[in-house]
Amino acid sequence: MRILCQCGAASIIHRVNALSNSTDTELMCSCTDPECGHSFISGVSYKHATKPSRLTLDEPVKIGASVLPVAVARGR
Ligand SMILES: [Zn+2]
Repeated sequence: MRILCQCGAASIIHRVNALSNSTDTELMCSCTDPECGHSFISGVSYKHATKPSRLTLDEPVKIGASVLPVAVARGR
């Protein structure tokens, strides 16, 4: 991720603060142009998914259900 200063120069991200109770994150930045010297806070936030995660809470339940018939078959 590249954050630009208002002067157009690249900035360095010094610290990332994930805000509690929010998907927002603050980026503490400073300009790389020594003549500018601007320090600022920029923000990043989650907007929406473009592809849903394959990791869901339903997955452990599916695994548990498929293990049970195998355990019964081994008992024969
Ligand atoms: Zn600048």
